[in-house]
Parts: sequence; C-alpha cells; structure tokens
Amino acid sequence: MIHRYGPHIFHTAHEHVWNYIQTFGRFRPYVNRVKAISNGRVYTLPVNLLTINQFFGKTMGPLEARRFIAERADRTITQPANFEEQALSMIGRDLYQAFFRGYTRKQWGLDPRQLPASILKRLPVRFNYDDNYFSHPYQGIPEDGYTALIENILDIPKLTVQLNVRFEELNADRDFDHIFYTGPIDRYFGFAHGRLGYRTLDFERFDDEGDHQGTAVINYCDEDVPYTRISEHKHFAPWEADSFKKTVCFREYSRLSAPGDTPYYPIRLATETRMLKDYVALARQTTGVSFLGRLGTYRYLDMDVTIAEALVACNRIDELLAEDAPLPAFFVDLD
Ligand code: UDP
Repeated sequence: MIHRYGPHIFHTAHEHVWNYIQTFGRFRPYVNRVKAISNGRVYTLPVNLLTINQFFGKTMGPLEARRFIAERADRTITQPANFEEQALSMIGRDLYQAFFRGYTRKQWGLDPRQLPASILKRLPVRFNYDDNYFSHPYQGIPEDGYTALIENILDIPKLTVQLNVRFEELNADRDFDHIFYTGPIDRYFGFAHGRLGYRTLDFERFDDEGDHQGTAVINYCDEDVPYTRISEHKHFAPWEADSFKKTVCFREYSRLSAPGDTPYYPIRLATETRMLKDYVALARQTTGVSFLGRLGTYRYLDMDVTIAEALVACNRIDELLAEDAPLPAFFVDLD
C-alpha cells in the first residue's frame, strides 16, 4: 500500500469521529513511532526521556530530566511569540537546534522566528519513554487504504461524482442551489486578493530489496540534507509487510507551492493572514457558497479535525434548512 500524497496516519481524541470513520472501512491499529537523524546519530521522536538521555549521554529518570531541561530552557520567555521562542522556552537551545531548527527551515522555507508558535505545539515533549508520536487515544490506518475508505464515503445513491473536471469549468452557480467548496478559498475567488501561500511537497521514490530503513518514518533534521524525511511505506501496513521482498520509499522535499502544484500546508504568516481576512470578508458577502476543510478555511487541520468540523456543519445545515434560513459562508469562527 502506497500513500500517494504522503504518509497519513489517522489519529484522534474524538471518540465520535473515530466511530464515524470506522463505518466506512476497517482500521488496523497503528502507532506512529518516528526516528530522527541529527548530526550523524539516530534518536527517537517526539522528544522523550530516551531522546534526552541519548542526546546528553545521561541515564536520568523523569523528575531529574524535567529539572535538567528546565535549567536549559529559556525562562525569560514567558509568552512565546514565535516557533523559536516556543522551542527555547520549552526545551532549550541544544535540543531545538538538533531537532527543530534545520527541519523547520527546510519544511517551511522560513526562519523559525517568523513562524507561529502553534506549529511546534503540535508536538509533545515527554519525560517518560512513551515514543508514540501522537498523544491521541485512537490511532490507525485503513486496512484497504484511504482510496477504498473515500470510495465508501462517496457510495451514496443520491451522489454523483465527476472526476477530472475543473471547478471553474462547471456552471456551479447556475446548476446548484448551494455549493460546499473545499478547494483553496483564494482560487474560488479567482485570486482576486492575491495568492495565499502554501507549501507543497515533492516525493522522490526509490525502491530497495527487503527492509530499507527498518521503520516507517525517519526525519532528517540537519539542514544540509535537502529532504525532511524518508518514509518506507510497507511499514505503515505491518499486517501485510512480511509478504513483500521489495520495498518502496519516498524522500520528501518541501517547497513553496506554485500555480498548478498541489497545495499541502497553509503558511499563515502576517501577509497571508491579512489576505485571508479579505477573502473571509468576500466570502461572507457572497451567497450560495460555504467553505470547509483545510483549503477552504486555510488552516493546518488534521484529518480528524476536518471530519469533526464537517459533522458539526452537517448538523447546522440540517437545522438551517429546516428553518428555511440561509447557509453561512463558514461553520467555524475564522476571526
Ligand atoms: N518538526 C521539526 N522536526 C521534526 C519534526 C517536526 O522541527 O523532526 C516541526 C516542523 O516545523 C513541522 C512541525 O514540527 O512542520 C509539525 O510537525 P508534524 O510532524 O506534525 O508535521 P506534518 O506531519 O503535519 O508534516
């Protein structure tokens, strides 16, 4: 099984989302355990007690490590204003430079001082040996892959799916009472206020015999390695991995998304945030269309949050239709 658009591990803390998604396909338990190479050595991520002990050559227990890191953390930063400050105030300069600075510069093409602290808040720091990348209780990978899962979601008699048609080629305004648009919001409006910035990914495939790296994901944190990570996809499906002699891996490169590329990550710096405000205002003045999802609302959303928000939107739509009330441009607060 190959994840064509990059590795996706489904993880959530929302029990109702976990129950909902499983009605469309069986999930196999999968725990994401990421390794990281920094300065010629292999570590475990997210930063946990093993990472800390290996990095500093120590054998500390949880309490000792907590004190040790607190001494290294920058206590003068009480309200981190950006990614770098967030990292320095949490883990100090050594760990920040080893695991976050180079990777983040490659991933975002920006200095971490220009990036919001919220990006780092995605990752935990643990003072125990728990190396589960996600802190969520429900985690898995669809047994038959995401394509089969999405096919099952779309398998509703009243639903028509048209593929290989650009939205602009449809006469959507004329042919439909209402549009739920999940593409990039700037594109819907013909880039009237300019292009919102996205990062895109290039995946460089290579094949090998047997087991190439011994695990699904290895991050490359050094800035002189041009890619951010290598994923070996058969390890995402350990239930079938044994049956393959060959193996497929992808090196992942991040760059600014150009017209025609697949937009992956909304950048959300000051310029984009201002531009987004203009698009949000424009959307609110436009009737007959609602914007949803990562691209429709220009936010760094995981799959489970996207689904949770869609379910909320569906309930709201039911209520509004029952009242014969107009549907809003957004179902989430974007202010
Ligand atoms: N990050 C990092 N080093 C790593 C892994 C992540 O600096 O080894 C930073 C990087 O800025 C990244 C962010 O943490 O964009 C969030 O990481 P996550 O693994 O959640 O990113 P995703 O899987 O969504 O690309």
